[in-house]
Amino acid sequence: MNSTLAVTANTQHYLNLEEKYGAHNYHPLPVVLNRGEGVFLYDVDDKRYYDFLSGYSAVNQGHCHPKIIAALVNQAQKLTLTSRAFHSNLLGEFEKYITDFFGYNKVLPMNSGVEAVETAIKLSRKWAYQVKGIEADKAKIIVCNNNFHGRTINIISFSSDPVAKNNFGPYNTGYTSIPHDDLPALEKALQDKNVAAFLFEPIQGEAGVVVPTEGYFKGVRELCTEYNVLMVADEIQCGLARTGKMLACDHENVRPDVLILGKALSGGVTPVSAVLCDDEIMLTIKPGEHGSTYGGNPLACAVSMAALQVLKDENMCANAEAMGKLLRTELENLNSPNISIVRGKGLLNAIIIKHDNPNAAWELCLLLKENGLLAKPTHGDKIRFAPPLVITKEQVMECVGIIDKSLKQLV
Ligand code: PLP
Repeated sequence: MNSTLAVTANTQHYLNLEEKYGAHNYHPLPVVLNRGEGVFLYDVDDKRYYDFLSGYSAVNQGHCHPKIIAALVNQAQKLTLTSRAFHSNLLGEFEKYITDFFGYNKVLPMNSGVEAVETAIKLSRKWAYQVKGIEADKAKIIVCNNNFHGRTINIISFSSDPVAKNNFGPYNTGYTSIPHDDLPALEKALQDKNVAAFLFEPIQGEAGVVVPTEGYFKGVRELCTEYNVLMVADEIQCGLARTGKMLACDHENVRPDVLILGKALSGGVTPVSAVLCDDEIMLTIKPGEHGSTYGGNPLACAVSMAALQVLKDENMCANAEAMGKLLRTELENLNSPNISIVRGKGLLNAIIIKHDNPNAAWELCLLLKENGLLAKPTHGDKIRFAPPLVITKEQVMECVGIIDKSLKQLV
């Protein structure tokens, strides 16, 4: 097998440093990167790679997009952090910009994705007690099996991934898990009068790009309205043009009550996340009840406005839609005996590997790396193919060639 593919002494030097001094909480491919531009990444030996992960969809706009970097540099020279103890000239401007952009009354800015999910859960519970009238401490949140919403103790409390939960208990309560893409299961769960919210990823990313059947988002919207339960969409990975629309829910013209964004909200430049909703929900949280030192800092505000504007100005939804279709068609046309499924929406795609070797997906990623394309397996046999949304037709075709060659080298 290929797992012994050699790395250069230069690369090995950096791998050794991380191995010795860093926590071992990730299992990265043995590649050390020091530069990125558009769809490309470069390693410490100046070898060029196509990036087919895009920082787990944080880099939708492409690496080091000049307009986003210009916004970063410009703002970094003026003011980077005030904390929320004071106002900044950019916070209100950003709040107006993003609420107009997505059509909500208000926004609550945070930093990482998981913080935004925690924020959405806190908002849902507050709303449940103060508006819906659920008895104290009884609120329940419905979630989906195989979800991925981050890594805090609270969020892993409702994960179905045993690795994520291994020896981190005790876990929090108040969550009920149902199958993804299952409206009858949702309706059954909603019979409980203590349900505050349904929290879901419209397309499950970490689970291996699981796209629900058409009509699911509409069905979720109708059920949540009927049972007076908040529809909370975690679009941290599937939102922001990734699937060919600004939001995955836009594919069915559905508006969630609570929208969670992160990752590409800064184009991969600095951690920015946000929760958007209307006043009835957002104003349940009062001063002192929630916050973050860096949340809504001026640097993040400047970067985020530029990142959103770039998505719009450069028609990234349309390109994601067209290039995604091309990629899936070309991958299917390979007719590889080692691919059992090609699936996805826009440029959020995955293949499922069929092979006797349980490590074949990892081996294939090593071969892809050798041949100039970076991708990473998720949950064993699945590999996500999610390049930056600036990829061109010629580049997609070159990447399909690399994938074809690598599949043929897989023994
Ligand atoms: N929600 C979804 C759907 C995600 O895909 C992720 C990260 O992959 C998160 C939440 C957590 O985001 P972060 O890693 O920024 O905390």
